[in-house]
Formats: sequence, C-alpha cells, structure tokens
Amino acid sequence: MKKQVAVSVLALSLGLFPLQPMQAAWDTPTLSAISNGLDAFWGGILQRLGISYRYPVVYSHQNVEITPCGPSLLAHYCASSNTIHLNMVQIDKLVERVGDSAGFFAIAHEYGHSVQKHLGILDQNLPIVVLELQADCLAGAFFAASEELGILESGDLREATMTAMMTGDYDYEHTNHHGTPEQRGRAFLSGFNDPKSCFE
Ligand SMILES: [Zn+2]
Repeated sequence: MKKQVAVSVLALSLGLFPLQPMQAAWDTPTLSAISNGLDAFWGGILQRLGISYRYPVVYSHQNVEITPCGPSLLAHYCASSNTIHLNMVQIDKLVERVGDSAGFFAIAHEYGHSVQKHLGILDQNLPIVVLELQADCLAGAFFAASEELGILESGDLREATMTAMMTGDYDYEHTNHHGTPEQRGRAFLSGFNDPKSCFE
C-alpha cells in the first residue's frame, strides 16, 4: 500500500483529491501512516453513527513482550486498554514472505476488533470465530476505501487475502479457532467487495 494513506483519507474526508501516492517501504513511518489512515477511516464512520472513536494506541514490540492481554505472539487487540500490539519480528517475516500488505492486513484486522469494541459487539459473548471473521471483513472494508483512493498497489489485494488465509486454522475444537483459511479469505474479500456485508 502506498505511503500517503493518512493524507489521502483525510483529503477524501475534506472532499479533496488524494495526493499522488508513492511506493512505500515497510517501516515505522509506513506503520504510523496506516494507523493514522485507519483512525481517520473508522473515526469518520463511527462519527456518523454518533460514536466517538477512541483511537487505539498501536505498540510495535520487538518480538515477544507481555501486554495487558498476554504475550505479543503476532498481533492482537487488547480491549481493556484499547491497545494494539504488534510483534514486529513476526510481522516482518510475514511481510518478507507475502509483501507489505501482509502487515497492513494485520493492523487493519486488529483495528476491526477496536471497532467491534466501540460498537458493543465484543460485549455480546459471540464465539471467537465470529469476531475474527468479522474483523477480517472490516479489514476488507478498509482496503476497499484504500482502493477507492487509488492507494492500493497491484498485488495488495492478493497479498492481504493470502495473509488472511495463512492465519486461518482447522482447530475447530479450540476456543481460539479463528476460522479456516477459506473462511478468512472469503470474509476479507466480502468486506472488500461489500463493506455492509460485515454486519449481516
Ligand atoms: Zn483477531
């Protein structure tokens, strides 16, 4: 994904034409650009629903650290502290294998959980798999907005779908089951093709 994501999302919300994007490297400025973009995107949507969005604080950890919600193995959202925790060693590995959108997908997915918290969905005692697939779908909705802004690069959609699938599992019996690779890929694409489908 391209670097001016935050600027572009802000430009869009002001009705301005987005800036011409540049090729992004996967680095700290890119990480903060994407989280600013996610803040602006979800902030705008929640505002229209009369909800003020408390932006999650994003922590990038060097490998495994203990967060308020346990060890940072890959990426997680912690609802009690409204924080997102990224294990940069693991995410860098994913990015190396798949491409930069693997990282963008991971962050966008965790933002999905923060949106669920703001909408009260996390309080509904839903099975984890339902929450996880909805977070994939919400990540897809953000990618759709990025596509509209012209800041997706060719391959981004494929990379993100691949990442969703790679982080799926077949541990149906496990309480932490996140959905099968097929379900996760489908949920992401469903959000990309029709953001409203995330709430159906
Ligand atoms: Zn999740």
